Amino acid sequence: MRQVYLDHNATTPVRKEVLEAMMPYFAEEYGNASSVHSMGQSAMKAVESAREVIGEAIGTEAVDIVFTSGGTESGNFAIKGIAMANLDKGRHIITSEIEHLAVLDSCRFIEEELGFEVTRIPVDKYGVIDLDRLKDSVRKDTVLISIMFANNEVGTIQPVKEIANIAKKNGIYFHTDAVQALGKELIDVEELGIDLCSFSAHKLNGPKGAGALFIKKGVKLTPFHNGGHHERKRRAGTLNVPGIVGFGRAVEAAQKEMPEVNKRMKKLTERFLDGLNKELDEIYLNGHPEKRLSNTINISFKYIEGESLILNFDLKGISASTGSACTSGSLDPSHVLIAMGVEPALAQGSIRFSFGYENTEEDVDYCLAEIPPIVKRLREMSPLC
Ligand SMILES: *Cc1c(COP(=O)(O)O)cnc(C)c1O
Repeated sequence: MRQVYLDHNATTPVRKEVLEAMMPYFAEEYGNASSVHSMGQSAMKAVESAREVIGEAIGTEAVDIVFTSGGTESGNFAIKGIAMANLDKGRHIITSEIEHLAVLDSCRFIEEELGFEVTRIPVDKYGVIDLDRLKDSVRKDTVLISIMFANNEVGTIQPVKEIANIAKKNGIYFHTDAVQALGKELIDVEELGIDLCSFSAHKLNGPKGAGALFIKKGVKLTPFHNGGHHERKRRAGTLNVPGIVGFGRAVEAAQKEMPEVNKRMKKLTERFLDGLNKELDEIYLNGHPEKRLSNTINISFKYIEGESLILNFDLKGISASTGSACTSGSLDPSHVLIAMGVEPALAQGSIRFSFGYENTEEDVDYCLAEIPPIVKRLREMSPLC
């Protein structure tokens, strides 16, 4: 049976060249990047060259990149780090209703543990945040705005520059979770006016457990890993050398192929959507029609449960998801779709198909042959019809 993986927003396969670049750093070049001997220095050199690549990809200098264990840690670090470092300035932060849990739960944490107030900005039906509400929510004691670059469930891209301008005008730090955007969209932190930006390697065909936080020069965060002078005292802990090397290679490859891959993703997702629309009634695309990630298609299938779709797709070798991998397992409808005003029953029947560079037209055609009959069969059995 054909296997078609359409869950790239959850994680992606490691590219062959990324894996090859990583291999020597497990058992041959195994030095600790903090050691002064040549084994250590050779590891450090590899780390620094990855840092250069990533800095260059986002329009900044290498020293502004701090390596972390991934997007979740980067988001936690940005939010808790800014909160802790600015306790005397104010205890209000602004985020959106559609963030990844890495951000939402970090905000919840500082709300409960540090006495912060959190304003969560709503979004329109396309998942775009309300800029007027954002402007109106700014207070004298606001220390941080954290709004994602591109949404992981529906793919909507936020007006990042406008958000940054509001932050700058009011002397507030701006963090954006760009985990889904890196390698898919151009990110120039300086041009956009971003102070803090989270990344993760495994969302762009790099290894799991490696990520980064961009910290603009002069922005002070309280580190929450203590225990050494690594990463200029911003993040203690022995560096994940193979992971970082793989991350660098993944960014390099994704940046180079971005225009071509985006074009291909757009074609594949259009073919997919057109095909489904030909065969099925009452299916709805979620997210912005244009301001969206080229690889992400979130569809509501009326009258059906998302979970049963996922299981039936899986029986045919098709991997998709009902939303974020971190929230699946809970039977609540997606907080992102609910924030967009999708009615709960419809939100329950929504599936995210996220494509990747290794998907082909044959994959799409296979899905177009398998998915409609599954949907029709489930609808025939559905008490909701
Ligand atoms: C996957 C993801 C994260 C978490 O990154 P990890 O490296 O898996 O911890 C954070 N934000 C978004 C938008 C994501 O898609």
